[in-house]
Amino acid sequence: MRAYVGVGTNLGDRWAHLALAARALAAAPRVALVRASRVLDTAPLGPPQPRFLNAALELETGLPPRALLLLLQGIEREALRRPAVRWGPRSLDLDLLLADDLIMAEPGLTLPHPGLTSRRFVLQPLAELCGERVVPGTGRSVAALLAAAPPWDGRDAGLYPR
Ligand code: ATP
Ligand code: CA
Ligand code: CA
Repeated sequence: MRAYVGVGTNLGDRWAHLALAARALAAAPRVALVRASRVLDTAPLGPPQPRFLNAALELETGLPPRALLLLLQGIEREALRRPAVRWGPRSLDLDLLLADDLIMAEPGLTLPHPGLTSRRFVLQPLAELCGERVVPGTGRSVAALLAAAPPWDGRDAGLYPR
């Protein structure tokens, strides 16, 4: 299964949290880290809080979506994410954005990720990895959704750290 993960961090050592996410995924059984996007420095959504670093990771995995989500949640805990306010500050947020062409709406797992189609801080890094990819259920490519997304406050912050 080809999967795309959105990475966000706005607490503590944000660059270290990005690196931790990549290392942990690369080290996980049945997961290969294929590529990382560049890193964006973005204004937060929701309550007033520090700016985020956002990026996207491309994975090839033999894990089914549920197992992959559990892995992502375990990595969030490794980064000492606090049991958080939704949209609030966090040391590491790993969202499963796309998993092949799957469409799912189950308790605890929605695919594609519901925020994907409207969030520029998700679409821009994702477009770097798979701009041509059609987002299941929308009939539109990642690049087309990006072109239609609302403007935002975000700037390039450099290469994804390893
Ligand atoms: P948002 O989901 O709007 O980006 P958030 O990332 O702040 O907000 P969390 O508190 O991290 O939200 O997660 C809330 C719940 O979302 C989790 O309990 C998780 O089970 C659920 N969830 C549903 N679909 C997904 C998905 N595709 N990827 C990650 N979490 C998901
Ligand atoms: Ca999120
Ligand atoms: Ca999340």
